[in-house]
Amino acid sequence: CGIVGYVGPRASERALEVVMEGLGRLEYRGYDSAGVALVGEGVVETRKRAGKLANLRSALEDAPLPDTATAIGHTRWATHGGPTDENAHPHRGGPDGKLALVHNGIIENFHSLKQDLIARGVRFTSETDTEVVAHLVDEAFGRTGNLTDAMREVVNTLHGAFTLLAVHADQPHVVVGARRNSPLVVGLGEGENFLGSDVAAFIGYTRHALELGQDQIVTITPDSYEVIDFDGIPTDGKAYEVTWDA
Ligand code: GLU
Repeated sequence: CGIVGYVGPRASERALEVVMEGLGRLEYRGYDSAGVALVGEGVVETRKRAGKLANLRSALEDAPLPDTATAIGHTRWATHGGPTDENAHPHRGGPDGKLALVHNGIIENFHSLKQDLIARGVRFTSETDTEVVAHLVDEAFGRTGNLTDAMREVVNTLHGAFTLLAVHADQPHVVVGARRNSPLVVGLGEGENFLGSDVAAFIGYTRHALELGQDQIVTITPDSYEVIDFDGIPTDGKAYEVTWDA
């Protein structure tokens, strides 16, 4: 339903604050669960809860996360699997859970992809269509060693509507986003960059925005952004200034 992503300067370590603020601004869309993933060197940690953002906040108070420079967050409107803690996003991929991924939309061919993964010995911890993508991107990362290439490989096998964001413990200063039939906007900051399902996700921090077109992938780091299409050809998003007051 609502998506936020952030990469900031190594010294600032305020990713959790930025993502929680963005999720708060996306609350107006309605949701049944919420969660965040923080990425540090070699580690990804997640907290997620069914119910309001207040539930996620209290989970973060009970079990605080060390703040980092990179994070993603999600508010979920369940389509596959009930609104439970386990089904809330982010979903983890890989045997060590080194990948975390959030998703808006529906993966229509998730069932057959899931059967293939189960046949390869992958264990599932949720009933969502989304978790399939988390495992697939982690597998592809194992082959390519690069989150952008991994995302590109996987999106070409998916049918349906999706905005996806992924982070990986082995590339802690990168967030990769992809979209088809579902919106994704980049927020351009100074020494920090943002991703959102709409500009409300980052309007508290920057008004420089870039709207991605159909079937595009974006890779953000603290000081760069790069857009390609699903064939890997470099392309441009549509840049604009957000003029309305949030
Ligand atoms: N289909 C996914 C799920 O049910 C994502 C739903 C959403 O857009 O929030 O978990």
